[in-house]
Amino acid sequence: MRKNNSNSFELLILGTSSATPSKTRHPSAHLLNIQEELFLIDCGEATQVRLFNHKIRWNQLGHILITHLHGDHVYGLPGLLSSMGLYQRENPLTIFGPSGIKEFVHTTLRLSHSQIAFDLQICEIDHTSASVILQDDKLTITAFPLDHRVPCIGYCFRYKDHFKKFDKELLSRYPLRIADIRKLKEGLDVTLPDGSVLRSNQVLLDIEVNKSYAYCSDTRYNERIIEYIKGVDLLYHETTYDGALEQKAEEMGHTTTLQAARIAAKANVQKLVTGHYSSRYHSLEHLLEECQGVFPQTILGIEDLRIKW
Ligand SMILES: [Zn+2]
Ligand SMILES: [Zn+2]
Repeated sequence: MRKNNSNSFELLILGTSSATPSKTRHPSAHLLNIQEELFLIDCGEATQVRLFNHKIRWNQLGHILITHLHGDHVYGLPGLLSSMGLYQRENPLTIFGPSGIKEFVHTTLRLSHSQIAFDLQICEIDHTSASVILQDDKLTITAFPLDHRVPCIGYCFRYKDHFKKFDKELLSRYPLRIADIRKLKEGLDVTLPDGSVLRSNQVLLDIEVNKSYAYCSDTRYNERIIEYIKGVDLLYHETTYDGALEQKAEEMGHTTTLQAARIAAKANVQKLVTGHYSSRYHSLEHLLEECQGVFPQTILGIEDLRIKW
């Protein structure tokens, strides 16, 4: 359930490996917290353990967004759902994903005799064009096509809100009691000792809040995605390979560090966070350096990293 008393976004990175896990890296999963409303994006193997280690209560999870059906993005889903059933989850859950996600979930749950008592909705998204998959008065989530070996979807979260804040300098000019300030805060007008009226909108500023996050994995370098992720605060873009392996990246439907950084620069995003690293890389420092050479505001995505803004 989203809370309205803060305006924070927090990303928790649960997995940064590509195809196979390693000693220190797990398959893809990101947890996005928008004012205590949790969105899980991709659900690689062991994601439920990763959530458990971070003391994330599964009941809090309302939405799971799957990019594509390669195992490193989806094999954690049956286990997580089965555990939710065993823990007698009651809250409804919605899963978004490409065509086939329904069959994958229903088949694995049926064959493993998993009992799910909560309301589970599975929405298959057309991977060939962009669409708004969730929208309320503050948050819009757009799904858009990526360029991988199989149907693959990126997700962009854009959040807009506004709140009132006192102009303290202006406020200090008036002889106000605490009760007056309380009234002004509630939007009421106050009569001053000299008989004049101070209106709340004279001292309350309207502050607009815009926050955004985009998730792009797995994909080839493709400038068509730029229009969907333009100007976001934080872009996650896969960086499976270093700059020397551009041809391999093209063949495998992935992106190099240099290409991801170029996308970030062209999309004019605030920050780029990397991930989905090939298991050939034990140290990741050179991947970060390559990105920063093109796009200095790059953060190295590593396991358990939290980014708050
Ligand atoms: Zn992958
Ligand atoms: Zn893939």
